[in-house]
Amino acid sequence: MAKVYIKTYGCQMNERDSEQVAQMLLDRGHVITTHEAEADVVLLNTCSVRDLAEQKALGKMGMLGALSRQRPVVYGFLGCMAQSRGASLLKEVPHLDLVVGTQKFHRVADYVDEVWQRKLHARFDDVRFTIIDVEEERGSQNTIRDHLTAGRPVSAFVSIMQGCNMHCTFCIVPYTRGAERSRPIPEVVEEVRRLVEQGVREVTLLGQIVNLYGRHEFPKLEDKSPFVQLLEAVHEVEGLQRLRFTSPHPIGFRQDLLAAFGYLPKLVEHIHLPLQSGSNRILKAMHRTYTAEKYLSLVEEIRSTTPGMAITTDVIVGFPGETDEDYGRTRALVDQIGFDNAFVFKYSPRKDTPAAVMAAQVSEPVKEARNHDLLGVVNAWAKRRAGAFVGQKVEILCEGPSKTNPHRLSGRTRGNKIAVFEGNERLIGRLVDLEVEHSTGYTLYGRVEAAI
Ligand code: SF4
Repeated sequence: MAKVYIKTYGCQMNERDSEQVAQMLLDRGHVITTHEAEADVVLLNTCSVRDLAEQKALGKMGMLGALSRQRPVVYGFLGCMAQSRGASLLKEVPHLDLVVGTQKFHRVADYVDEVWQRKLHARFDDVRFTIIDVEEERGSQNTIRDHLTAGRPVSAFVSIMQGCNMHCTFCIVPYTRGAERSRPIPEVVEEVRRLVEQGVREVTLLGQIVNLYGRHEFPKLEDKSPFVQLLEAVHEVEGLQRLRFTSPHPIGFRQDLLAAFGYLPKLVEHIHLPLQSGSNRILKAMHRTYTAEKYLSLVEEIRSTTPGMAITTDVIVGFPGETDEDYGRTRALVDQIGFDNAFVFKYSPRKDTPAAVMAAQVSEPVKEARNHDLLGVVNAWAKRRAGAFVGQKVEILCEGPSKTNPHRLSGRTRGNKIAVFEGNERLIGRLVDLEVEHSTGYTLYGRVEAAI
């Protein structure tokens, strides 16, 4: 039995993959520890979306190398950086034992056992033993099954597809996660059913372009896309109270999906809809295949079909060639739409992506200034949107103790706003009515009226 420390960088998809790895290791009799100093196995599930995330993971692995001076320790990089850098990581981190790519998470427990046993029985003359597996694997999307719902056991992520074929010019995902592959509807439904049996009340369906789920594998039925068919099937699971998804692409966000919000009551009123830029010239260079006008009219349609819909987004500032005028268009559109929240990223060149070698890379100080300026717009809107709830009654799914104050409970609104309130632990996993008393930007505070 080994004590396994897993650290996750990056997106929710990575969190979900780490949960799967944790569950597989628990099934083998290992234990998961949150204390890195006592670990026998160190697994870092990595992100390649920005250089900073890669540097953090490399730095952490370098630092944790000291543990093996006291006892045998297995060190592994998993996920996106493992996929994109492969064996070259051994040069940077000589004590590394495992490099396991994004289509091989289901093999991690085998590999850990193999290396761990060898290390335990190692003799001085043993040659160094490393495992590198970054091969593509047909059907790997169907290996995503049970997982530990650590942290927020009331709410779980469910990966419904892997990979992306969109090839946005700034994005490394098509290289690290491969081509689009979707899991069959019955398998996803079965996973959700098992999660609900374990106490989960809310699931978030995950995919890089989630609304395009199944487009290569499954047919449209009665004019409904495979994704809407999946939403309907998951919605049927008894005991499930809320259904979310992230992230859709503005392309392919069609009438059938807009309509689904009207007849699937568990489908909550929140859409995270990446914008990336408000300049058509930059959108084209990004290969985003929609215009700012199209994006805006989609937002207007969403809001008129489902009043009160919370809309959040991602925006990149400082993409190669972005002029002050381009940035000004992004700023104006973000302000016009008034998002509930937005993640603003400074463009970071990624190896082997077309944008990394584009002319007119924007300087760091300019990126920094635009980032700072746009965050001002985003934060002002977030505050305004959250402030509109003060004095209102909202439905919260109570998730557990608040991260910032364990004596209070926290949960989320249907629109994904965090709420913090006092209450008995018996409320965890239940829907409650919250009377909102005040808000600070992204968080609502109030009194629980009654459990629903
Ligand atoms: S849609 Fe674009 S940004 Fe999103 S994962 Fe695919 S290539 Fe990357």
